Amino acid sequence: MSSRLPAMVQTLRDRGIRLTAERRSILAGVLTCGGHFDVDRLLSHFRHQGVQVSRATVYRSLNTLVEVGLLRKIDLGDRPSLYEPIEGREHHEHMICVRCGEIIEFVEPEIERLQQEVCRRSGFEPLDHTLQIYGVCHACNCKDAAEECSDPARAGAGG
Ligand SMILES: [Zn+2]
Ligand SMILES: [Zn+2]
Repeated sequence: MSSRLPAMVQTLRDRGIRLTAERRSILAGVLTCGGHFDVDRLLSHFRHQGVQVSRATVYRSLNTLVEVGLLRKIDLGDRPSLYEPIEGREHHEHMICVRCGEIIEFVEPEIERLQQEVCRRSGFEPLDHTLQIYGVCHACNCKDAAEECSDPARAGAGG
């Protein structure tokens, strides 16, 4: 995980962004949190580490990291946005459970191909895209409809 820090630092340098101590600790925090995290999770990480950094600074730095392409921002509507490091990661999309917040990553070449095709037809040059599918995950669905989910097993056991 820490091996990604030098690459991220280099990207900032390439973009002419000064690596302040603050930005360096935010980069390290981002890599420690990994996966998909929100601002509160990053702030609580800093609190545990005894690092003094304000919420406003965190927001500002995260925006910078999104702008230079080191982070991807996942807009969740009325919920806090999530961020994920994308340096060295394959492009992927998300299924997001609106009940428990579970995030399932997926890659589907056919969807990618279709998007390219749609853009081509409109003479549109795609630079980036994000696809989020909101819904209810399997676990939450089963919790909701406990009877339905356990039906096959009960039927199999003969009641
Ligand atoms: Zn769920
Ligand atoms: Zn992801």
